[in-house]
Amino acid sequence: MSAFKKRRTAAEDTPTASSTPTHPWVAHMAKHNWTLEEVAEHAYTAANFPALSYVQEKQAKFKRPTPQKAVKPVTTYSSSLEKPAKKPVRVFLKNEKEAQTFDFLVVAANPRELMGYGLSGGDPTHCHQVMAPTKQEEAIYSKAGGMHNSYFQTTVIKVPPSSPVLPNVVRFVPAANSKATGEVMGFRNETAKTYWVKGATEEYVTFYQLSDPEQPCATLGQAALEAKFNDFIKDPPDWCPYTMPKETPTVFNTAYFNRFPKESLDKGLPWDLLDLQGQTFTSFTHGSSCFESVLQIYQYLEMLEEKGGLPTDKTASVAIVGAGPSGLLSALFLTRKGFTDITVFEKNHDPEEDKPNLYTGKTRTVVKKQGVDEQEVVCEMGTCYLSPSYAPMVNDLKDFFDGTMYAENHNVYPLDQNPEKDPSFRGLIATDQFAKDGPVQRFADLLGEGVKVPKGANPFKDEGFTSLVEPIDFAEYCLLKAMEETCIGPPKHGPLGGKVPLWEVKLAYNAQRLECTIGLAKDMVKYNLIHNKLFGDATPFPAERIPETKMKAMTMTFRDWLEFNGLLRLTGFLQYGYSVQGYGTLENIPAWYGLVWVQPSTLWQALSDKVRAAVTKFVPHVDLTQKGEVFALKKGWGQVWENMRPVLKSRGVKFKWSAVLERIERDGV
Ligand SMILES: Cc1cc2nc3c(=O)[nH]c(=O)nc-3n(C[C@H](O)[C@H](O)[C@H](O)COP(=O)(O)OP(=O)(O)OC[C@H]3O[C@@H](n4cnc5c(N)ncnc54)[C@H](O)[C@@H]3O)c2cc1C
Repeated sequence: MSAFKKRRTAAEDTPTASSTPTHPWVAHMAKHNWTLEEVAEHAYTAANFPALSYVQEKQAKFKRPTPQKAVKPVTTYSSSLEKPAKKPVRVFLKNEKEAQTFDFLVVAANPRELMGYGLSGGDPTHCHQVMAPTKQEEAIYSKAGGMHNSYFQTTVIKVPPSSPVLPNVVRFVPAANSKATGEVMGFRNETAKTYWVKGATEEYVTFYQLSDPEQPCATLGQAALEAKFNDFIKDPPDWCPYTMPKETPTVFNTAYFNRFPKESLDKGLPWDLLDLQGQTFTSFTHGSSCFESVLQIYQYLEMLEEKGGLPTDKTASVAIVGAGPSGLLSALFLTRKGFTDITVFEKNHDPEEDKPNLYTGKTRTVVKKQGVDEQEVVCEMGTCYLSPSYAPMVNDLKDFFDGTMYAENHNVYPLDQNPEKDPSFRGLIATDQFAKDGPVQRFADLLGEGVKVPKGANPFKDEGFTSLVEPIDFAEYCLLKAMEETCIGPPKHGPLGGKVPLWEVKLAYNAQRLECTIGLAKDMVKYNLIHNKLFGDATPFPAERIPETKMKAMTMTFRDWLEFNGLLRLTGFLQYGYSVQGYGTLENIPAWYGLVWVQPSTLWQALSDKVRAAVTKFVPHVDLTQKGEVFALKKGWGQVWENMRPVLKSRGVKFKWSAVLERIERDGV
């Protein structure tokens, strides 16, 4: 609401007689003197929408879980009086005979590795046990818990610019992403992201590969992924306009997205983990504790605080293992609460030695120089994007985002400030996404080279043709996928039984497209209502355990969940918003993870952007700013941590770089 508080009058927003035909949303605004947000709400509530009552009936037993208020008693001390005489945590570093002793341990590195369980697909024999687990920890992190992960590889190359200049800064291939066998699944042109320089003589491009050990034929090792990349770039497919790199590529390969399988989610392992937080003088704050994103680390810390999973005695000495985003955010959280005795152990070397690159855990901001004037190009090989869900976090950590946001309250690429370019920003490759006998392909076959976007009929795209073999703009792709999932397509024969006349195909196409456009907007609102029903306002998830019977309806695959809730029109949107980031396919991933990641604020922003775009089109004199659903940082995520470390140091946090942990002992284990 914030950016649009002023109630617009019908007179202001009603098109003049000379403008294009009145869009239903604009008509609603005029008739009821509504704001845009009210119109968006109305798109959902005013419609007679039988699917919803079905959902409500089906979901009736899904009582909204109340966020837990009571703080669970933990076995650790809560005041200095209860502090054990001898410090219960002992950290042994290689080549140091004496242990360093602490009152509390924060695990901000992968617990499965520290406990010696290895990573799925990896070789467990290479995993030296640093920390013996308790029985409860073993139940979660050993094979029994079933936690597993994918592997991500990113490669930055310098290439000659494509000719003609690409309209897309980002291209993604859902088909390769869904296979997750290590094929290149997309790229981001970092030079274009940074400057959008026309006529640049060289460009930096980051390529993405994802590999999931669950997939047959998945390629896991770094050497194998690099070989796959080399084959790819020597003979790239049509969607990739780049060839052999001009210099040695920079490669980053990492285990990624630890998650539980359905069975463990059903049994409530996220809450088993929550219950042991703070026990045995230990908290787990690594990305694997909740979800693989910077956002969830921060939100999970807030939940831990509420649940009593963090230490409370401010005089306690705390060891944090890992100086990635989790380690730094944990240190920040504790220093903000008044803790003064914190030591962070990080196996990597001091980031000061990496400059101008800014490495912090899986944040890999690589700074390249380009052109005669050596302009800096910020390449993100790890953490990159933010969404509207990050707003509270960004607000709370405002100082650390200094100098890296493109503009305050306008969290988008500079490109998004140019409305002419914005629709072309993200291109999706439609390979295997539209069935031969599906509605979209049949329309395309009958209408000619592609599907026509009629003038004024759709707020998401200008008029023109969309070819199904060229990269498709994100918003258009979302709509076409929505049509693929829910439209009946062209009539099979004409009114008198013969060939379908072209006018009838066009009519059917325009009608179904328009219906689907409005349906997509409705589904965005509906998703949010259902999300709210299941999660309440809790982030990242309700702190109170959801019983197994109720969990089951959230641990079916995300695709089944969408179908069950009548939300299949969101498929294209979520392929990008969820899957393309390496978080698993809609067909495989439990809906739970989708719900944890895709929070209502992102859909509200998407909806708001689309409505604004639509209204601007019909009411050209109205200047409505779109914020965008996904954005990046000018100087990269690395700059955030770069800004944070000195502040932590000034608050007494000690960093031990290149720390080789021999073992960690805890009393009672
Ligand atoms: C390609 C890619 C793209 C991504 N994109 C996004 C995005 O757009 N938005 C987003 O929010 N997130 C994104 N992420 C996810 C985000 O980067 C991670 O969720 C985040 O880095 C997790 O932080 P962490 O500190 O928990 O773990 P890590 O970043 O893995 O940090 C763990 C740290 O612990 C250290 N460590 C490990 N073992 C030991 C040991 N034995 N002793 C001492 N230290 C140890 C490691 O060296 C590391 O520094 C992306 C990640 C990747 C790989």
